[in-house]
Amino acid sequence: MRDFAAELADRKQAGLYRTRRLVEGPQQPGLTVDGKPLLSFCSNDYLGLASHPDLTRALCEALPDTGLGGASSHLICGHHRAHHQLEERLAEFTGRSSALFFSTGYMANLGVISALAGRGDTIFSDRLNHASIIDGCVLSRAKVRRYPHGDVDALAEMLAQTGGHKLVVTDGVFSMDGDVAPLGELARLCRTHDALLVVDDAHGIGVLGPDGQGSVAALGLSEDDVPLLIGTLGKAVGTSGAFVAGPRLLTDYLVQKARTYIYTTAMPPALAAATCASLDLIAGAGVRRQRLQQLVLRFRQEATALGYRLMASETPIQPIMVGDNWRALALSRALEDRGIWVTAIRPPTVPEGEARLRVTFSAAHSDQDLDRLLAALAACRGLLDSSSVAAAPVVP
Ligand code: PMP
Repeated sequence: MRDFAAELADRKQAGLYRTRRLVEGPQQPGLTVDGKPLLSFCSNDYLGLASHPDLTRALCEALPDTGLGGASSHLICGHHRAHHQLEERLAEFTGRSSALFFSTGYMANLGVISALAGRGDTIFSDRLNHASIIDGCVLSRAKVRRYPHGDVDALAEMLAQTGGHKLVVTDGVFSMDGDVAPLGELARLCRTHDALLVVDDAHGIGVLGPDGQGSVAALGLSEDDVPLLIGTLGKAVGTSGAFVAGPRLLTDYLVQKARTYIYTTAMPPALAAATCASLDLIAGAGVRRQRLQQLVLRFRQEATALGYRLMASETPIQPIMVGDNWRALALSRALEDRGIWVTAIRPPTVPEGEARLRVTFSAAHSDQDLDRLLAALAACRGLLDSSSVAAAPVVP
C-alpha cells in the first residue's frame, strides 16, 4: 500500500495542504466561517444571485409539481419538462441552436471533450485551462498538445504541423488569472485549420457581454465562430449545474456519446426551474454588472497604489500575486485576522512559484466592504516585503 500519511505530511511541509472551512447561512459577502464572522472575497457568486429570493421562491414553487429527486438519467426516465424548458431557455439566452443541461461544469467538460475527440485525434489545450478540461483531455485518449497561455502564434504553428481531426479548447475567462482568451483569433485559426473550437465560459456567463451571455458574445462572436459554448450555473447564475450550447447536430451527438450526460442521474428538476428564474434576472442585471465593474476598477487602482501586483484582468477575478506558498498563506491568515476571507491558491491549481490570493468580487459587495478589504490589505502589505519573516513554514 502507498504511504498516504507520508504523502500528506509532505504536502503540509510544502505549504500545499488544503483545508475546508465550515460556512453557515446563505452564500453572501458576510458569512459565518468556523463560527466567526468574515467578509468573503472568494466566492464565484459574481452577481450576488445565490441567495436571491426570486430563485429560492422559484425552487420552492416548482417542488410540488416536480418532486425532489431526478430518479434516473435523462435517457431512462429522468428528462423532465423542467429540464427541457431550461435547455430551451439556455439556447435562447446564449443565442444558439440548442443546449444540454449537465449536472456540473466538471462533468460537462469531461463529457464534451471525451465525446468529441478520441484516439487518433489531437486536442489543443491552453496551458492554463481548468482542471476539468485537462481531465477531459486525458479521458478522451486523444493526443493532447498544450499551447502557451493565450499564444495564438504558437497554436497556429502547432495546428499547421498536425493532421487528422483537431479540437481546440480554452477557458473563456481564465479561472485563476481572470483574463479573457483571444477568442476572435482562436475562431479564425480554427476555421483556417478546420478545427472544432470549444470554449468553457464558466466565469464569463452572466458577467460579460451586453446581456450577460458571456465572453463569446462580449467579443461579438456567435455560434458560427465558437461552435460549442460550455457554461456553468453555480457561479454568476447562482444555482448549480452546467450547460453546453451549440448546433443541434453536436448536442444530438453528445446525447449519444457524452458519458457524463448519459450515465448519471438527472439533476432535481426544480433546480432547473430556479435556474430559469435566474436567467430571467440576468438579462436585466445590467446594474449588477456595472456595479461589478466599479468595484473592480477601484480595487485595481487602490491595490496597485498599495504596491500589490495584480494580473491583467478586467473581470471580477482579481488575483494578488504572491509567489511563495507560505507567504500566500501568511497573507491570507493576516487578512482573516482582520475579518477578511480570501483563500490562498497554490500549486497544482496554479503553476509552481505563482501562489496568489484570488480576490473575487460580487455585485453584492458594498463600497464599505471594499473599504474594509483595502484597509486590511494596506495593513498587511509588509508581509510581502522580502525582509518579512512571515514566509517561515508554520505547519498547520
Ligand atoms: N470550468 C471552469 C473554468 C471552472 O472554473 C470550473 C469551477 N471552478 C468548472 C469548469 C467546473 O464547474 P462546476 O463547479 O460546475 O463543476
